[in-house]
Amino acid sequence: MGPGLYIHVPFCVRKCGYCAFFSRPAEPDLVAAWFAGLERERQALPEGFAPRSVFFGGGTPTALVESDLARLIEFVRARTDLRNVAEWTCEANPGTLTPAKLAQLKTGGVNRLSIGAQSFDDATLKRLGRIHAAADTRAAVAQAREAGFERIAIDVIYGVPGTSRKSFEADVEAALALSPEHVSCYCLEIEEGTPFARQAAEGRLAVSEEEQRAQFDWARKRLAAGGWRHYEISNFAKPGRECLQNLLYWSGGEYIGVGPAAHSHWRGVRWGNSPELPVWRKSFEEKLDPEAKARETLVMGLRRLAGWGRAEFRAATGFDYDALRGTEIARLAAAGLLVVEPDRIRLAEDALFVSDSVFAELV
Ligand code: SF4
Repeated sequence: MGPGLYIHVPFCVRKCGYCAFFSRPAEPDLVAAWFAGLERERQALPEGFAPRSVFFGGGTPTALVESDLARLIEFVRARTDLRNVAEWTCEANPGTLTPAKLAQLKTGGVNRLSIGAQSFDDATLKRLGRIHAAADTRAAVAQAREAGFERIAIDVIYGVPGTSRKSFEADVEAALALSPEHVSCYCLEIEEGTPFARQAAEGRLAVSEEEQRAQFDWARKRLAAGGWRHYEISNFAKPGRECLQNLLYWSGGEYIGVGPAAHSHWRGVRWGNSPELPVWRKSFEEKLDPEAKARETLVMGLRRLAGWGRAEFRAATGFDYDALRGTEIARLAAAGLLVVEPDRIRLAEDALFVSDSVFAELV
């Protein structure tokens, strides 16, 4: 599997209240500086690099104006060996999509759209600080189908303060009514440094874990009943429509990330870029200790509901998971958080909502 190419498009129309990703307004000077930086990073791409998946993430790639979006697609097409590409995803905010941008993406080779719907309730969207209304999402999906996209992913957020299980159910039903091939259900996290974190610190925003869990459990059942297979903690897909780029991350695969705040993992080395514009730099580089890397891969792979097969893990890391973390695995199994079969381990259903604590024991 792999490798992957990730391009961070660090622009958003406006910052959402809960978001800690690196992004700035798409001002022409910043966009020009970003393209110049991409050119610089291109020089460092490994010889013969031929990704199997490409991902435009952000930020909001579709916040670029049409001419810049065309330039980005051209940058990838002219500089990358695309002969092995099976999946090329672009993240999109419904408030920034137009039929012209969709046609550009489609003609350029993008074959998967990941649309950040988040909710279909306009009051909730407003509370989240989103720039779009539910009607924009419906229109975006219709336009994307018209443009020929056969792989559409929709993101929804659960556990937003002020929502109930009933309102979240309506969100999910509205998303499913658009027949997406892929659905991501993310839990609202209060990220440091965001307006939501400040509101929470001042006691103006309360997140109920019990309510979050109830919404997550309901979504799992509803999506499974509708034929969307639960394949990773937050992700559901119709058969064969899982996201290749994310599967690559979760199986410890190799990828190169370009752009500010992007990370890379290649030939036993990991590095990351600083979250800065107009100029970013490599902010760290580490040669990975094989055993530490194997522990991390163990945890990443357990995000997948299928978990790890013993042979698969050995092929990916060179280690046996029992030799690496046998005592912890046995303890977590006894606590009902891991399912241990003769040659496979995976998260137990009860652990899906508290996976972070399980992972902390294993890494
Ligand atoms: S559109 Fe996405 S990346 Fe931009 S601020 Fe909102 S959540 Fe963050």
